[in-house]
Amino acid sequence: MLVSMRQLLDEAAQGGYGVGAFNVNNMEQIQSIMEAARETRSPAIVQASRGARSYAQDLYLYHLMLAATELYPEIPLVLHLDHGNSVETCKSAIDLGFTSVMMDGSLMPDGKTPSSFEYNVEATRKVVEMAHAKGVTVEGEIGVLGGIEDGHGAGLDGLSHVTDPEQAADFVAQTGVDALAIAIGTSHGAYKFAKKPTGEVLKMDRLIEIHKRLPKTHLVMHGSSSVPKELQDIINQYGGKLRPTFGVPVEEIQLGIKNGVRKINVDTDNRLAITGAIRKVFIEQPEKFDPRDYLKPAREAMKKVVAERMTQFGQAGHAGDYQPIPIAEMAKLYAAGK
Ligand SMILES: [Zn+2]
Repeated sequence: MLVSMRQLLDEAAQGGYGVGAFNVNNMEQIQSIMEAARETRSPAIVQASRGARSYAQDLYLYHLMLAATELYPEIPLVLHLDHGNSVETCKSAIDLGFTSVMMDGSLMPDGKTPSSFEYNVEATRKVVEMAHAKGVTVEGEIGVLGGIEDGHGAGLDGLSHVTDPEQAADFVAQTGVDALAIAIGTSHGAYKFAKKPTGEVLKMDRLIEIHKRLPKTHLVMHGSSSVPKELQDIINQYGGKLRPTFGVPVEEIQLGIKNGVRKINVDTDNRLAITGAIRKVFIEQPEKFDPRDYLKPAREAMKKVVAERMTQFGQAGHAGDYQPIPIAEMAKLYAAGK
């Protein structure tokens, strides 16, 4: 069933675990996540970026999600907008039926230019007002993440605008966001770090400081694929040309989860798994031409990665812990100042 992300993250905070948020663009990726959720009995967050919405069209995505709620009634499921660039984009997602939206006011509506703190507060506060009136959750962002994904991002390295704890506290107080994405050195895409990250480039200390300053705010780690060498190797073994690269080690994410991180965004790992599986079929069985012959192994490969992350983040086994609060009921709770 569709639930609000607020309820799902509140439950995660109570249970002391994190929840992976996996990006989707098509039916196969949704199927991979839902199968992994069923297998590991996990609550699930699926998220669609603006790029995904324009690739698949809103209605295809939304109805695929509804199909998922019917086929997997035992899984609490959040449909989340990843990196909304404006109040209008968030509104269109809420109107469509998303149960959670991200207003990324750390960048201007062009999705590229770092914005001012005042702009960010203003845009995010408007989205919070509109979303909470309907019971929909809002994730904001303070600080600027590295890299560019789906045409979104300032293209900076991850350390140019690391989140300041005082500013984060101000931002949360002034906007009333339910969850907060922070910049601690991670970036979008496959090329995050040139070697296994140390505290110099992946600022877990900063995350811990922010959590101490905002112990009740659900923190979100973006750009948190681990980019495992095994997945890179499969792609390169079958004709790919990935440069050596390092992601965010799972043990660092687990440290984050101990310090207030409730939502962990993972996209690249799934992309790598899918591409590796498809390349393998193309090279080993070049006579194949039915898309199912390579999409089935691709779906299976992504499911395996998602199930592994669900287990590592601790959400496994928690699908049946709670009754979903209907979105309309959430709206009343917000109105009552809960
Ligand atoms: Zn992101």
